[in-house]
Amino acid sequence: MTPDTNRRWLLASRPTGEPTREDFELEESDVSEPGPGEVLVRTRYLSVDPYMRGRMRDADSYADPWGIGEPMRARCVGEVVDSEYDGLETGDVVAGNLYWAEYATVDGDRVERVEVGDLPVSTALSVLGMPGRTAYVGTVDVGRVEPGDTVVVSAAAGAVGSVAGQIARIAGGRVVGITGADEKADWLTDELGFDAAVNYRTAGDLSAAVAEACPRGVDLYFENVGGEVSDAVTDHLTDYSRIAVCGKIALYNQEDGDVPRGPRRLHQRTRTRVEGFIVSDHAHRAEHITDRLRRWVSEEEVRYRETVTEGIESAPEAFLGLFEGTNVGKQLVRVA
Ligand code: NDP
Repeated sequence: MTPDTNRRWLLASRPTGEPTREDFELEESDVSEPGPGEVLVRTRYLSVDPYMRGRMRDADSYADPWGIGEPMRARCVGEVVDSEYDGLETGDVVAGNLYWAEYATVDGDRVERVEVGDLPVSTALSVLGMPGRTAYVGTVDVGRVEPGDTVVVSAAAGAVGSVAGQIARIAGGRVVGITGADEKADWLTDELGFDAAVNYRTAGDLSAAVAEACPRGVDLYFENVGGEVSDAVTDHLTDYSRIAVCGKIALYNQEDGDVPRGPRRLHQRTRTRVEGFIVSDHAHRAEHITDRLRRWVSEEEVRYRETVTEGIESAPEAFLGLFEGTNVGKQLVRVA
């Protein structure tokens, strides 16, 4: 049966600097019944991700900007509650690029069945989803991690970083995580098998703290943060080291003119390879990588956490928390 009302978040304004709750508007509307070829999906979980900050800005990026008054989009997991699409039935659990919304009526080919085996469906948005694949691509394909490498991961207790560090450990690396809270640092070393963790908020001289944690220098830096964290790691890169540039969250709330220019502090690192990547460019390998992650999770070689806020109302708070570090592991919103 089709429900009556839907609630969804719209982009109300383009933030300058840190976004606030006022940049989002919760709209109530009728639920549209699916037409031919469409499905109606009830969202169970929606994912909030740092790249969404870029889409709130009217600037050139690999992801198109969202328009003011348009619905916020998100990768979601949900349940088909009505289907006019051959191949999907009521009750099927699906994932797709949908909205910050309770319901979405979309073409059936915009969603696919969720394949997570015995794991919770939310893992399709976390360790078995885009963040897990990003961790794999950055560590293995771009970072080309080797046994014996010293690997530093920033935002190490987040969705991508926590998995990247564990993959580097499995590959035989010595893994150091950088994070912003002692509890997160303890999680990395006590539960995820990181060899050391540095709290960038309390370390004082961060470059010295990285040197202490990495006595043989840094062979691979999995870059999630940018700014001063990045500078502190760059100081200790070895000859023929690599930087896998995954993201630079510390810069996402800065306006263009304020973002520091150029790769900083690489002046004595002429043999370092710096390579950025976007996980969607590796979509052809998604199935292979997901299978690998599923096996590691089932063997408890890779552990994961999800931080979940409750209700569609909480989506902006969950998103804003990414920039405060309120999440451990993947930040999700449970909608139904
Ligand atoms: P996380 O789960 O890691 O959440 C963000 C974390 O970043 C926070 O928990 C916080 O942790 C840390 N952080 C926030 N602001 C700062 C700051 N100013 N300085 C230092 N640390 C900060 O998010 P994701 O795992 O989803 O994303 C991690 C990175 O990967 C982002 O840069 C993102 O853009 C990028 N990414 C890139 C992809 C690609 O295809 N290239 C795909 C997916 C993500 P703490 O408490 O430790 O500070």
